[in-house]
Amino acid sequence: MNQSSSAIRIAVVGGGITGLSAAFHLQELAQEKKQSVEITLFESQAEAGGWIGTINQDGYRIDTGADMFITNKPAAIELCQRLGLEDQLISTNQQYRGALILKDGTPVPVPLGFELMTPSRILPMLKTPLLSPFGKLRMGLEYFLPRRSAETGLDEDDESLAQFVTRRFGREALTRLIQPLVAGIYTSDPEKLSLRATLPRFLDMERDHRSLIKAIRKQKKQSKSADATGARYGLFAAFKEGMQTLIRTLAERVSSTGTILYDHRVTHVAAADSGYDLTIESAGETQIQHFDAVLLTTAAPQAGNLLAETAPGLSGLLKQIEYASTAIQVSVHRLENIQHPLNAFGLVIPSAEQRKIFAVAFASRKFPGRAPEGCVQLRTFVGGAMQPELLEHSDEELNTIVNRELADILGVSGEPVYSKLLRHNQSMPQYHLGHLQLVEQIEQTAASLPGLELAGNAYRGVGIPDCIHSAEQAADRLMAELTARV
Ligand SMILES: Cc1cc2nc3c(=O)[nH]c(=O)nc-3n(C[C@H](O)[C@H](O)[C@H](O)COP(=O)(O)OP(=O)(O)OC[C@H]3O[C@@H](n4cnc5c(N)ncnc54)[C@H](O)[C@@H]3O)c2cc1C
Repeated sequence: MNQSSSAIRIAVVGGGITGLSAAFHLQELAQEKKQSVEITLFESQAEAGGWIGTINQDGYRIDTGADMFITNKPAAIELCQRLGLEDQLISTNQQYRGALILKDGTPVPVPLGFELMTPSRILPMLKTPLLSPFGKLRMGLEYFLPRRSAETGLDEDDESLAQFVTRRFGREALTRLIQPLVAGIYTSDPEKLSLRATLPRFLDMERDHRSLIKAIRKQKKQSKSADATGARYGLFAAFKEGMQTLIRTLAERVSSTGTILYDHRVTHVAAADSGYDLTIESAGETQIQHFDAVLLTTAAPQAGNLLAETAPGLSGLLKQIEYASTAIQVSVHRLENIQHPLNAFGLVIPSAEQRKIFAVAFASRKFPGRAPEGCVQLRTFVGGAMQPELLEHSDEELNTIVNRELADILGVSGEPVYSKLLRHNQSMPQYHLGHLQLVEQIEQTAASLPGLELAGNAYRGVGIPDCIHSAEQAADRLMAELTARV
């Protein structure tokens, strides 16, 4: 570690993807600006990664949380390029492209050309058994509907997913198609989910083109000519050896010029003369260390707890962000023990089906190297914002619930060759209506505290590229402020 008495001392709290990429970017900036900076990252657990990790057990490679990231937001790909990890990236297996949605107990393919909310092709929509004839007609009517206007009395700035989809495409499209697809990403209640904070492009499409169907068809035409140049990656990317590759590489790079202290929990952040005093607990001991600046990347309520005395207003705002919990059963099965051909990346399950599981990712169909020859890896999701009570069950009970549903829906029989239940308590921030206003208030309040920055999945996006972007922006702001002080 490079130390000098004139070095700026920065503490990064949290060693998930946000904390690690913030620390790494601070080092990049310090080098670029030839600024002497001493970075210490505190992680309360024994290892880095937060909700990202890969277990290599009994010959199986299991991503414990996130298992891929989208590539159309550039922050993650660009970070991989800077870390020299491009040759470790893999794309999805096009053979199994597409998803299934459960309808009356049977998995049905999402109609060709249907993307999250909008149909771009007419024939597959007409043929799909996912919607009734009335549901299809109502969906098609979207093409002719006017855009919402002030006269509709609707809030111009935000709407819940349920409100928006029902208004444009009808209730059936919401309950049978769009709710399960969006729940697969946000594990949220569609009646509460803020569209502006999660999928603003659909609100923008309505504003700019009136009809979403019209907008998506236009975009398709334009992207056909753009595709001719050849996209480097598919929409999703993963790592050959699992997501841990990114965490391990970042941790190595951060430790090369800075310090990562594992099993060190920050319990208090107090404003002090030109900086902050951090109270840190480790191995039963408590110590106080002074830093010129602090970058908090924990979940928002935890950041709120750390700031309770120093910034009670900000602390109260941070604690307003709610989180949902989920559990994943990762299981590996012999293909001959599964009746369904699993010819997709996965299955999502509408709440209307009244099942206990809400999604099953066919991990080894999506990416190579996730299961031995002749086997398949499934990741089955339970709980989320819609069924939090399920997580009160013991691991054994949850395994029984999942196995029963997998048998019923996909015809899975016999014992899996590998099975592990992973709990992710309070892992998914819920972007409820009004989320962006709350985040703006948080950002404005935090901006009045010199040398303090917040970053992470609680604010402007939950995906890995969003976390990295949030981390890098916070690092940029902090470095600009600190170098101006010197
Ligand atoms: C089950 C699941 C599946 C997901 N799948 C995907 C996916 O496929 N693709 C995708 O893009 N995104 C996915 N996500 C979202 C994405 O993984 C997360 O948003 C992201 O990993 C969050 O990273 P973070 O660093 O902001 O927070 P965290 O991962 O929560 O990291 C925060 C860190 O801070 C530490 N910490 C907390 N308090 C303290 C303290 N007081 N002192 C010191 N350290 C502390 C914690 O131990 C933790 O390591 C998924 C999330 C979950 C839960």
